[in-house]
Amino acid sequence: MELYNLSTIKAILEKHGLWAKKYFGQNFLINREILEKIVEMADLKSTDEIIEIGPGLGVLTKELAKNAKHVTTLELDARLMPVLKNTLADYKNITILNQDALRFSPALKQYKVVANIPYNITSPLINLFLQTDYKPTSMTVLVQKEVAEKICLIEPDMTVLSLQVAVFGQSKLIRNVSAGCFYPAPKVDSAILQIQIYQPSDPNFIETKKALKILSLAKKAFSQRRKMLSNTLTDYKNQMTKVGIDLSRRPETLSIKEWLSLVD
Ligand code: SAH
Repeated sequence: MELYNLSTIKAILEKHGLWAKKYFGQNFLINREILEKIVEMADLKSTDEIIEIGPGLGVLTKELAKNAKHVTTLELDARLMPVLKNTLADYKNITILNQDALRFSPALKQYKVVANIPYNITSPLINLFLQTDYKPTSMTVLVQKEVAEKICLIEPDMTVLSLQVAVFGQSKLIRNVSAGCFYPAPKVDSAILQIQIYQPSDPNFIETKKALKILSLAKKAFSQRRKMLSNTLTDYKNQMTKVGIDLSRRPETLSIKEWLSLVD
């Protein structure tokens, strides 16, 4: 049973009296090449713990279970529980939880996130996994193309979202994925995005507390992004002069190193 076959998906949905719910952001992957690419890029090891968000009918979950040690998968839609028990019955290394991923507290010391995530919760979900003390080592996720592009922006075109990711890791758009690779096809194109999270041994590593300090300062500056920093970060003028940041600059032009020099 290949879960990326459209006819299989339709048959499963019909058998259980289900339909894809827009409210849950349900767009099921129907392209084998993309499925294989996600698994390849996630670079799974037989010792890896994986957390997946939004398994849907289990198409990606199954591949993760084949290649990793254990998969914990979080699905909000209770209707899919009996489906997943059935489609994933052959795999003993999967824990299926009927739970809202936005209310999940990761507790694993070392794990990877791999998922085709619901697009309506992309940024809160990424922030949840990056801002916790128990961060994944990497996140390999299918997201809306525009969001992936936005996340990958660096100075002088930073956004709050790209900064939120850049303080914790290096992001990369792996490849674009057309809307036709999903059933039902969403209105927008998608992309495989990967974030490699900095480990304490990495020169770019910033402690969570300090990173959050940068983000709260940056949010203040970005709330009026057309204004010069001298107008938005009035309490930091001395510090900016001290570290050599021109007061007329705008927030999107600052590098992580420069933000760091403001809170250090
Ligand atoms: N991974 C599957 C399904 C992707 S659709 C595939 O590639 O085919 C997104 C999935 O996320 C749906 O199954 C949807 O029910 C689930 N979902 C939506 N919001 C969620 C949330 N807050 N927490 C966990 N799962 C959620």
